[in-house]
Amino acid sequence: MSAAFPTFTIEGYPRVGANRELKKALESFWSGRIDEATFVSSAHSIRLENYARLRDLGLDQDYSIPADVALYDQVLETAVTVGLIGGDAADIDLTEYFALARGNSERAPLEMTKWFDTNYHYLVPEVSDDTVITPRPQRIIDIVNEAKAAGHVVRPFLVGPVTLLALSKPTEDAAADFSPLARLEDLIAAYQTVLAALAEAGVEWVQLAEPALVADLTIANDEHLAADASFAYRAILAEENRPQVLVTSPYGSLRQGLDALVSANPEALQVDLAPVTLANDPTYVSRVAAAVEGTDITLAAGVIDGRNIWAADLRERLGVLETLKEAGVDKLSVTTSVSLQHVPHSVAVETALPVDVAGWLSFADEKITEAKALAAALDGGAVAAADAFARSDRAVRTRSESARTHNQAVQDRVAALPDGQVARQPEFAGRVEAQKALGLPQLPTTTIGSFPQTPEIRKARADHRNGNLTDEQYTQALKDEVKSVIDLQERLGIDVLVHGEPERNDMVQYFAELLDGFVTTEHGWVQSYGSRCTRPSIVVGDVSRPAPMTVEWAKYAQSLSDKHVKGMLTGPVTILAWSFTRDDVPKSVSADQIGVALADEVADLEAAGIDIIQIDEPALRELLPLRAEDRPAYLDWAVRSFRLVSLDAKPETQIHTHLCYSEFGQIIDAVAALDADVTSIEAARSRMELLADLDESFHSEIGPGIWDIHSPRVPDVAELTELIKAALVNVPTDRLWVNPDCGLKTRGYAETEQSLRNMVLARDLVVESL
Ligand code: GLN
Ligand code: ZN
Repeated sequence: MSAAFPTFTIEGYPRVGANRELKKALESFWSGRIDEATFVSSAHSIRLENYARLRDLGLDQDYSIPADVALYDQVLETAVTVGLIGGDAADIDLTEYFALARGNSERAPLEMTKWFDTNYHYLVPEVSDDTVITPRPQRIIDIVNEAKAAGHVVRPFLVGPVTLLALSKPTEDAAADFSPLARLEDLIAAYQTVLAALAEAGVEWVQLAEPALVADLTIANDEHLAADASFAYRAILAEENRPQVLVTSPYGSLRQGLDALVSANPEALQVDLAPVTLANDPTYVSRVAAAVEGTDITLAAGVIDGRNIWAADLRERLGVLETLKEAGVDKLSVTTSVSLQHVPHSVAVETALPVDVAGWLSFADEKITEAKALAAALDGGAVAAADAFARSDRAVRTRSESARTHNQAVQDRVAALPDGQVARQPEFAGRVEAQKALGLPQLPTTTIGSFPQTPEIRKARADHRNGNLTDEQYTQALKDEVKSVIDLQERLGIDVLVHGEPERNDMVQYFAELLDGFVTTEHGWVQSYGSRCTRPSIVVGDVSRPAPMTVEWAKYAQSLSDKHVKGMLTGPVTILAWSFTRDDVPKSVSADQIGVALADEVADLEAAGIDIIQIDEPALRELLPLRAEDRPAYLDWAVRSFRLVSLDAKPETQIHTHLCYSEFGQIIDAVAALDADVTSIEAARSRMELLADLDESFHSEIGPGIWDIHSPRVPDVAELTELIKAALVNVPTDRLWVNPDCGLKTRGYAETEQSLRNMVLARDLVVESL
C-alpha cells in the first residue's frame, strides 16, 4: 500500500537559510576561507535545519516536505541529476558544479536568466543533438537518505523534462533549426532511470515541476508544449518501477496543458489558484474541477499565494477549496501556488515593522500556517484553525480600513489624470530643436549612473546605520565621493556627467525609503541567484512623495562642474518589479501614483538647474506577462507610467532612459513608446545586434552600451571603435551616444578608469574619421 498524498504541503521553501547561512557558506568556500569538507557539512546542516523548521510548522506527514534543495540553482541541480549537463561523467564534483555556475579561468559560466516572471535567475543548460545524457540518480538519493537519517521523509524535487528543455538553449554549434525539445524522448529515459532508482531507494512520492506549461514561450506554443507534456508524462507514468508522481504547474494557469496532464493521469497534480491567477483567468477553478472530477488524481490546490507577502483572506480561500469539493474533486490537498523561495522566511523576526503592517503580512513560515489551517478547516477542524482564521480576519479588516493604505489626496490626483495614453509636448522633433541649446558634441559620451561602490562607501554606510557615523559625517563622506567622481569624469573628458549614486545601496530601496506608501524590512532577504539575495521593499498603500528625494545630490554635483550633470531616477515599473506589490489594487494603480510622485521630482530637479534627467527602467521586460494575450495591457500601463514622469518636463529638458538585461525584441515597440529623448540600452554582448531591428518608429537618440560592465575585462580602443562604427551602420551620427552597458556599481575603479578612458579615445577616433 503506497503512501497517500499529504493533506497539506508547500511547493518549495527558501534555500538560503533563515539568516542567509547558505550564502555565507558559499561565499566563504569560494573565497577559500573554508575548505570543502566544512562547506559540505554546513550545507548539510542548513538542509536539516530547514526540514526541522518545516516539521515544527506542521509539515509532519510523510512526503509533505519538498526536498527542493540546490547549492546554487534548481535548474542546474536537476540538469546535473538527470544528466542533461556534464557529458558522460559519472558524477559532477563541487569544483565542476560551481564552474558551471560561475565560470573559471578556462570556461565562461552558463548563461543566467530570469525564472518565469520572478526575480529569481536560473542557469540555462545548453543542448544539442550531440549532448550525451547521463543520469546521476545518486545525487538525489543521497538527499533523501540524509533526510531520512534525521527522521524526515521528504519529497524529492526535480524540474520536469518539458520545462527543463523549454528553458534550455541550443549550444553554439547546434544546427540552426535545432530545438532543445527535440531531445525530449532521450531525456524522458533519463527521468525514468532516476525515478526507478528513487523507487528502489523506497521513495513513494516525487515532485516534477512543469511551469513551462503556463507560459507562452518563444521556443514552443501552448499546443506544442501541451503535446510534449502529454507524451512525456504518458511515458513516465507508464513505468511501473517508480514513485507516485506530483506534477506541478506554478506561476499561472494551465490552458491546453491541463487536459494534457490530467489525461496522462499522474497520482497528484498541483495547480496555481492564487487570487491573481484567478483574476487573470476567472474560469480556471471550474476548468480544473471539470478536468479532475471523476479521476483518481489528488488535486494539490495552490490556494496560498507564494509570490506575494500578504496574509491570505482564509475565508475567501476556503471558499475556493469548497467550490472544488462541491464540483466533485474528492481527493484534495492544500498547497502554495508556487515555491515559497520567492518570499522571505518569517515576519516574526521583523521587529521594526509598524505593528499593524506586521499583522497584514505572511512570509514563508506564516504561509505554511495558513495552508495548514485551510487543510484543517476543509476537514471540519474549525477549532484547530481558529487562531489562523482570527489573524486572517483581523488582517483583512484592519488593512482595508487603514489610513496607511488609503490616501485620498493621492487617489484624487490620479483620478484627475487623463485616461488612456498620455503624451509629452511638443513631440520629439520639437524637443530636439529646444535641446540644441544643451550644446552637446557629436557622439556625446556619458555613463549610466552609478560609479564603483568602494569598500569605503560600504563601510561608511554600515557605520552610519550602526550609529558610528553622525548624519553630518556620513553626508560629508558621500559628498567627498561625489566630488571625486565628478573630478574623474572631468579628467576623462566625458561630456554628460553623473554624480555616481554613492548614497544608494539599492536603486529601488532608496526611493522606497523616501516615498510614503512603502515599508522596508530588516531581514526580508530573497534569493536572486546563487548566493545573491535582495531585500525587496513592500508597497503597502497609496504612494506619494513627502519631499524631494534626489535634488540635493544633483544640485551639489552640478555645482562642481560646468558640464551637464544628469539627474538620476528609477522609473515606476522598475520600482514595482523589484518590490512586493499590493494585492488590493492592480499594479497599474501604483504605477500611476509613483509616476506622478516622480513627476514632482522632475519638476524640482528642473527648478534646481538640472537639464538632463534619466529615468531608469531596466525591469520593463521583466514584468512582461507570461501569457501573450496579457502583454498589450501591461505594456500600455507601463509606458503610461513612464510618460507620466516626464509629461510636464520642459521641452529643453532632455529625458534619458536606460534598459538592460537583453532580449528587447519582444518589447522594442514599448521602448520606443516611452518617448524618451535618449535611450541607453545594453548591447555589447550581442555586438549591437538589436540596432538592426530598429525602425523609424524608434525616434529617440540611442546609446547602445559598448562596454560590457558585467566583467572586469577592460575593452581596448580598437574594439570600442569598432563597436561605435558598427552602431553607426544603423544609427545616424546625430542620434548616437557613446556609453557603457549599465551602471558601474559592481566594478572597481582601476578597470572603470581605463575602460572609460578607452571609450572617450574611441569616440574621438570615430568623430575624426567622420
Ligand atoms: N542608474 C543605475 C546605475 O547606474 C542603473 C542600474 C541598472 O540599470 N540596473 O546603477
Ligand atoms: Zn542597466
